[in-house]
Amino acid sequence: MAKKKEKFVVEKEIFDEHIQAAGLRRTAQRNLILETFLETEEHLTSDDLYFLVQKIDASVGHTTVYRTLKLLTEAGLAREVRFGDNKTYYEHHYNHEHHDHMICTECGLVIEFFSPDIESLQDQMADNFGFKPTHHSLRLWGVCAECQRAEKEAHTTPPGAQPRVRVRTAMH
Ligand SMILES: [Zn+2]
Ligand SMILES: [Zn+2]
Ligand SMILES: [Zn+2]
Repeated sequence: MAKKKEKFVVEKEIFDEHIQAAGLRRTAQRNLILETFLETEEHLTSDDLYFLVQKIDASVGHTTVYRTLKLLTEAGLAREVRFGDNKTYYEHHYNHEHHDHMICTECGLVIEFFSPDIESLQDQMADNFGFKPTHHSLRLWGVCAECQRAEKEAHTTPPGAQPRVRVRTAMH
């Protein structure tokens, strides 16, 4: 009988290396937080992840989740993203291709996209200024196709109003 395959072996190795270098140990709680994060293909806040982890182990504290997310980011497993609602979201970084985001200001839908044309135009533009880009985050705010359909009947946002951003996650 085959042994139950351990999940996220490479990610755990990367995490172990990082926390050892930081003088920390891998604990059962950190392990749970790592696994829960990697199992969720969503853009998560620290609160969202805390909510998910709590369902499995109620003894895990909010601070532990927050600090572990920071460690995951430092280790290159997670990446911080911001969608304009003053919250920090985290998404998978390791083994995930670069992508940019479109955010629906009505329902909070986040669409991931990648365009080689846009990427190379950005590089050209930077080059025009002798600028050496290290990273970027392109975000488009607007209204998704579904909300546009719903809005056809409803009244529209008054011009000049601040965009409302309510990012939708797995939990809400
Ligand atoms: Zn890009
Ligand atoms: Zn929408
Ligand atoms: Zn993303």
